[in-house]
Amino acid sequence: MCNLMRKLILKTLHLPKYFSLPPTFSLSQKSFLSNVSFLENAYENAKAYCKGKKPPPDVDVDGVFATNELDLDKVSVYGFDYDYTLACYKESVDHLIYNLGRETLVRKLKYPSDIMKLNYEPGFAVRGLHFDIGKGLLLKVDSFHQIQLGCVYRGLTPLSDEDVLNLYGQHYIPADYLESYVHNGSQQGSSKMAHLADLFSVPEMSLLCNTTEYFVNNNLDYHPDILFRDVKSAVQSIHPVMHQTVQKNPEDYLEKDPLLELFFDRLINAGKKLFLVTNSPFNFVNKGMQYLIGEHWRDIFDVIIVQARKPKFFTDENRPFRVYDLHQQDHVWDKVHNLEKGRVYCEGNVRQLQGMTGWKGRSVLYFGDHPYTDLADASLVHGWKTGAIIKELTSEIKTLNKPEFKWHVNWLQVLQQLIEEHQDVEDEPSQQLIKHWIGERDELRKETKHVFNKQFGSLFRTYHNPTYFSRRLFRFADVYTSNVTNLLRFSPKHTFYARRGALPHEYRSWFV
Ligand SMILES: [Mg+2]
Repeated sequence: MCNLMRKLILKTLHLPKYFSLPPTFSLSQKSFLSNVSFLENAYENAKAYCKGKKPPPDVDVDGVFATNELDLDKVSVYGFDYDYTLACYKESVDHLIYNLGRETLVRKLKYPSDIMKLNYEPGFAVRGLHFDIGKGLLLKVDSFHQIQLGCVYRGLTPLSDEDVLNLYGQHYIPADYLESYVHNGSQQGSSKMAHLADLFSVPEMSLLCNTTEYFVNNNLDYHPDILFRDVKSAVQSIHPVMHQTVQKNPEDYLEKDPLLELFFDRLINAGKKLFLVTNSPFNFVNKGMQYLIGEHWRDIFDVIIVQARKPKFFTDENRPFRVYDLHQQDHVWDKVHNLEKGRVYCEGNVRQLQGMTGWKGRSVLYFGDHPYTDLADASLVHGWKTGAIIKELTSEIKTLNKPEFKWHVNWLQVLQQLIEEHQDVEDEPSQQLIKHWIGERDELRKETKHVFNKQFGSLFRTYHNPTYFSRRLFRFADVYTSNVTNLLRFSPKHTFYARRGALPHEYRSWFV
């Protein structure tokens, strides 16, 4: 864009003060006619321009972010998952899952006893990664199914870019390989890759990576596929013990949110119906909710469904509801004709729920933390509005708001534009300068990745694309936020509007 045109646009649109595209570094001549001193000037002008600009305002850590328009006034029924949606767990739960899984691996599956010395490493793995079951690799994939180089680990050791290319032949992973678990309906069976879409899988992956590292370092022969399935079954088998441990001392494992009951009161006072659908057993949920809300927690919900077997709850119409007998602590076989407030139900399916309550389609807003188990079928098959609870948003947004990060991201984008516009220079000194810029850009990319997580970067993006996890999340959730109680800041009649993003052929955003 010529400077005259740029000035004209600046004048016409009365740009906000955060507009940060420097007006003087763009092409004023054909790039192949540029010389090195012209490029050096463009670089210095751009940097001076950016340094003179005020950084963008902070993102609201407790914000509710819309991927699709959501009018709360049209929502008459609110549904909730329990684990990691209403119940926010402390890091102690990760240690508990890891330790119990490790013990099962050694005591029951007879893995080497030295594995008991390998401790949980918080912050190593993050949600949203893929695990290649056959190759035994933990890796990050973007929304185009491309592997993010530098984010592929065998055990705790990163693979070189060359090794990754040798193993996969390319950066791209074919859809039938990547999404085999979707077609198989589970992450078992013949799946080639597992997607770590929930927070319970993070300690499991840490155990898998630590054990892999142990086998590799000690030159022990192992089969990645079998190791994956052993760790998975070890962690799944400890759920009853984990539940009992959390039930005994909920204060050690659950984050108490004083706003949670207030949030429910607000909804009830606004005339909304409330229901709970969780895969967890009643005793576990009961103890947790008693700790979070009080003994009266069941009065809040119009319908309570436990052991729901999501995602089958949304797709399998054969399993009927059963009444959960609070005294016998088991379900009874009487046929359920209607769902009564104050009672607890097991299993069932969404068709029956809709038939007995009349709660259908867009009048229902369901909150969950798992994009597949909670949100995919609810949204795509049944037309419910959906909200994702993504705990990691808090730390990700705090990182976004750091002044140094804002500068790095802003300068990264400007530097990228400089490279794009001047890359066709033909003289040797200019080409060398462009290479130097590319080196600076690569360092900035690493810097803006490491601040989120040293190994894998942000949950939501790779260097320039959304992650695979982000794409799924944005497809299945109308809104996402770090905690359900963030909704308290909005009226029950509030409408969330999705941001209009610029498509590649449209004007780029004026904001940074
Ligand atoms: Mg959950």
